[in-house]
Amino acid sequence: MIGELIRQMFRRPFTNLFPAKYAPSSPSRFVEAVKKGEIKINPPIETPPGFRGKIVYDREKCIGCRLCTKVCPSDAIEYIEDKKKIRIYVNRCTFCAQCTDACPVNALSMSNEFLLSTTDKNSKDLIVE
Ligand code: SF4
Ligand code: SF4
Repeated sequence: MIGELIRQMFRRPFTNLFPAKYAPSSPSRFVEAVKKGEIKINPPIETPPGFRGKIVYDREKCIGCRLCTKVCPSDAIEYIEDKKKIRIYVNRCTFCAQCTDACPVNALSMSNEFLLSTTDKNSKDLIVE
């Protein structure tokens, strides 16, 4: 165990720097930095089948039945009365997928997108409509 501990002290971390604020300002600068070894990047881990990431809403399919709003345990789905459509606040979502199971027309699904961290809880990226 002591040997493993000492070995780990001299190995680089297996995780990438996160969040993205540590990345260089432009993609070209990023590539350059990786090539020069200034940034060590491990390959991203592939998400497994059935992964529950950011919700995807197919507005065209939605028939405005409201079932998703009734099953959502975190009150993350707002019903827009005049449009008969919904709006999802990802900052409240617990990624339970109950709404996707309840939707009768498969207008909701879970993507494999999981890099959702932000300092702005009202970011447009966290509103799905
Ligand atoms: S995944 Fe769960 S928490 Fe998120 S919007 Fe659907 S029902 Fe609500
Ligand atoms: S359950 Fe499906 S069809 Fe009904 S309001 Fe929600 S997204 Fe639209």
